[in-house]
Amino acid sequence: MAEFLETNRVVIVGAGLGALYAALELSPLPVLMISPVSVGSGASSAWAQGGVAAAMAEYDSPEAHAEDTIAAGAGVVDPEIAALVTSEARNHILELAALGTPFDRDAEGRYVLNHEAAHSAPRVVRVRGDQAGSKIMERLLAAVSVCPSVQILEGVVATGLCSEGERVHGVELMHANGGGERRQLLCPAVLLAGGGVGGLYAKTTNPKEIRGEVLGLAIRAGAEVRDAEFVQFHPTAIDLGLDPCPLATEALRGAGGLLLNSEGERFALKADPRGELAPRDIVARSIFAEEQAGRAPVLDVRAAIGSEMAERFPTVTASCLRGGIDPAHEPIPVTVAAHYHMGGVAADAWGRTSLSGLWACGEVACTGLHGANRLASNGLLEALVFARRAANDIVKSVRNCSAKDEIEIDFGETAPDVPHNDAAIASLRELMSRDVGVVRTQVGLERAVHEITRLMNTHTHDVRFLNMCYAALAIAEAALAREASCGSHFRADECNAIAQDLTQATVREPT
Ligand SMILES: Cc1cc2nc3c(=O)[nH]c(=O)nc-3n(C[C@H](O)[C@H](O)[C@H](O)COP(=O)(O)OP(=O)(O)OC[C@H]3O[C@@H](n4cnc5c(N)ncnc54)[C@H](O)[C@@H]3O)c2cc1C
Repeated sequence: MAEFLETNRVVIVGAGLGALYAALELSPLPVLMISPVSVGSGASSAWAQGGVAAAMAEYDSPEAHAEDTIAAGAGVVDPEIAALVTSEARNHILELAALGTPFDRDAEGRYVLNHEAAHSAPRVVRVRGDQAGSKIMERLLAAVSVCPSVQILEGVVATGLCSEGERVHGVELMHANGGGERRQLLCPAVLLAGGGVGGLYAKTTNPKEIRGEVLGLAIRAGAEVRDAEFVQFHPTAIDLGLDPCPLATEALRGAGGLLLNSEGERFALKADPRGELAPRDIVARSIFAEEQAGRAPVLDVRAAIGSEMAERFPTVTASCLRGGIDPAHEPIPVTVAAHYHMGGVAADAWGRTSLSGLWACGEVACTGLHGANRLASNGLLEALVFARRAANDIVKSVRNCSAKDEIEIDFGETAPDVPHNDAAIASLRELMSRDVGVVRTQVGLERAVHEITRLMNTHTHDVRFLNMCYAALAIAEAALAREASCGSHFRADECNAIAQDLTQATVREPT
């Protein structure tokens, strides 16, 4: 490994919502943000469609929001964390609005609120229909671009942590194109904000940069991980053969969109009287069963939204048109895709992990907010709340760093590209979807653990792939250990009628 670098900047791994919000909060403390691609791309945050859950209406309250969060999480949510996050939600919305986020308002200036699945009331603030993520990110990027304490290193990835025992004192970095050597960067504090694990699966709604690498590198350093088995699969990813799959936001179902199979049946009602607005895991399993039975599920918004589609849901409309479907006049083919990781690096109410010098926020962290099943639109909210709390805690712990110490890190010229390990990545993604997906069994999970371990042993030279494998293994092992179904984690070896249906439809031996 090449010689190490040193900085007094706080290093933030990632450049999504959690990272940008934390960087602003840390100001004037000097920060170095690591982004694999141009900042603003490669982050799930910019793709968020629905919005941010927050009790903004007079009929609503943080307590009701917390109750819905706890109910959706299937008994695994930490109630104190749910109370804390929901009580802070309103302030974050007001501050994003003050930064210039153009939240949708009605004629009286009240926030327009979407009703999403498993919320007891309309509660999701939105921006220009389905553009919440990109518009919020736009405002944060504008603020960061004029914040002199923040340096952004683009085209670079974190591949590891520098640690001694339980103390983290730096990160290991390399150029994202694989060229050149890995280098250690010693720093006073590291905040992980590297997003989720969607790209570990063959079908995902996440950008391709989001594939569990940051979770994996934390595991290698010995950080405690919690609830890794809980992966949320989105029921209505648009099935037009694209990778990643574009998303058809849940707000479409909130607006009256219907799920139909090829026989014209409203199949979601069979699984739950709430039908299309049942919790995400229930709807996902219904869609999955229809797919496996060959009854091509679709989302039909023609009657509910029709010609207003382009104006109310421009992002979804554009994705459909790219795939040759006009959603105002044709049903949208849908599939189930890995969407959100409830588990992650265990973090407390201040984003502190089990290792000193290491904090985590956003999707890479597990704070206990989501339990076994995230309530819709609580993801952005969690990133906001814990980015701020982690930043405040970091400020206290690295008080002696000088705000004037702003020497920029020079990571050197990019070396020529080294080809990605595409075949191995494809094998990993296929096996995760097959054996650690919507429906799981002991046999499949044992096979997954075995195959992931084999992949790790045959690709020891590729640290980024190894990080992916460590994350995948943590998910598979936790899923194997949890023998009973819970929220998004569904074990078909449990004895009930739906399980048998799904088992017959899905558990195939590998060819
Ligand atoms: C299509 C879609 C729609 C969604 N809609 C909503 C919604 O409406 N409401 C809601 O609340 N949530 C929604 N979510 C979830 C929400 O967007 C995420 O949970 C949230 O944005 C996570 O923010 P983050 O900052 O933790 O991660 P991200 O925004 O994903 O950022 C992670 C960052 O880490 C970087 N990174 C990855 N690997 C490395 C590495 N090795 N080294 C350095 N950097 C790395 C990435 O490039 C990226 O910059 C949606 C997600 C998707 C995919």
